[in-house]
Amino acid sequence: MRKILFTLLLTVSITSFAISQSHLDHSPCATAGEYPEWLAAYLENPTHQNARSADDLLMLPITFKSVGNSEGEGHYPTLKIFESLCRLNKDFEPYNIQFYLKGAIEKINRDLYYDHDNFSDGFKMMQSNKDPLTINVFITNDAPSNACGYFHPSADAIVVIKNCMGGSGHTLTHEVGHWLSLPHTFAGWEGMNYDPGEETPLFLDVNGNDTIFVEGANGENCDRAGDRFCDTPADYLSIGWNCSGNKESLQVLKDPFGNDFRSDGTNYMSYSSDACQSKFSVMQVDAMRAYIDFARSHYVFSGFQLGNVNTDPMSSVYPQPSDKVHYQGIELEWNHHPNATRYLVQISRFSFFAAIDYEFIVSGNTVNIGDLTVDKNWYWRVKPYNDFDLCGDFTDFGGFQTFDITDVEEISPNNGVNIYPNLVARNQPINMVFEFNEILPTKVQLYNIGGQVLQDFDIPNPGRQTIQIESGNLARGMYILRLSTAKGQLTKRLTVQ
Ligand SMILES: [Zn+2]
Repeated sequence: MRKILFTLLLTVSITSFAISQSHLDHSPCATAGEYPEWLAAYLENPTHQNARSADDLLMLPITFKSVGNSEGEGHYPTLKIFESLCRLNKDFEPYNIQFYLKGAIEKINRDLYYDHDNFSDGFKMMQSNKDPLTINVFITNDAPSNACGYFHPSADAIVVIKNCMGGSGHTLTHEVGHWLSLPHTFAGWEGMNYDPGEETPLFLDVNGNDTIFVEGANGENCDRAGDRFCDTPADYLSIGWNCSGNKESLQVLKDPFGNDFRSDGTNYMSYSSDACQSKFSVMQVDAMRAYIDFARSHYVFSGFQLGNVNTDPMSSVYPQPSDKVHYQGIELEWNHHPNATRYLVQISRFSFFAAIDYEFIVSGNTVNIGDLTVDKNWYWRVKPYNDFDLCGDFTDFGGFQTFDITDVEEISPNNGVNIYPNLVARNQPINMVFEFNEILPTKVQLYNIGGQVLQDFDIPNPGRQTIQIESGNLARGMYILRLSTAKGQLTKRLTVQ
């Protein structure tokens, strides 16, 4: 019987481990265990009154700093930052607390911060880079104690490592919980390892003082033990853990009064794995909202809030799918999208955007992406957003092909054409003098340097004749004239002065 139970337990834990392995590679959080002073006073005063009703939406600013190594590599993708913010807002939505993106996502390139293994380097990073009046979140590769993240109370900023960011994890939610005054559900047990083989003491030895009570399984001492919230059950687990199907610890714990229990994994402030977590308790939410009123009221956004970005697909102006585009100074253009104030533009060699080659954030409806490799297919997509709604989809605008100009005098042997002048004065016609010895239908296309087709017509049988293109409506700049036939192509560069 015992053996069967053990096997069953092992199977369960291996299954859950696979779900959240990336989280469990790291300890959940390295936030120091000192009980927040403000919260202690708040909980001791039972007549506290929140200034705002629970129905008021509290909108707080959040700012992300992407930390890379000294070579500028290893930055966390912009899109993933958006997804993390969407997850944070989803987690806080039931409590009428929301977050908007404040300022640009700044990049910091420094090895010392990218992989920092001590709080003093983290503190330095925060002090020298944080913005005022916003929740500062630094995204790094590694953090002290191999943790997923931490909140540094004196620097008043948060670190979350790349592996623990994203749309499915709750590390950011947990750290913002700290920022809003919440301790861990297992407060007092930080840095200790609960040992089921040892009798659980009635008091914990913290900093040499036997003053911290241990919460009982039936709520004994709940207002002076653990997180001091009586609606979060006893929890002693200070090392990351996986839960069972009913979101409780696999491990059975014993309280100081001899009662067995399992820790609740649903609370964001526990160290359970991401898949277990889904809520804050009522008292935790009351405390966070009171803390915002008390200490963070000047952070609350009360201006005009932009509505959600229209969820319809966007429409592109240039290039259209399968267009041929001159490879230099490529300008992409789309139509403005309702309620969007910014656009995330991504360019990839892959139609499914497996790797992003170039990325731009712009507030207008065009972007000059510079030069792309010639004679290749490129794909582009645009995600419209505003600071309050970054959760919409990309519109995929399909692919285009880049080309270069080659000056060829002949389309094929026996079929030449002379195009002149190269430097075209305003209102001077462009001459195409055909010397064709075959019947060769020819397509004539005139592009601007961005690759937009300005003229497009067919000559069924050019023979030996001169055909003119008027230049009167062409702006100053470079143009490309292309003649295409079944036997070959000719491309010529022209400059209008
Ligand atoms: Zn924590």
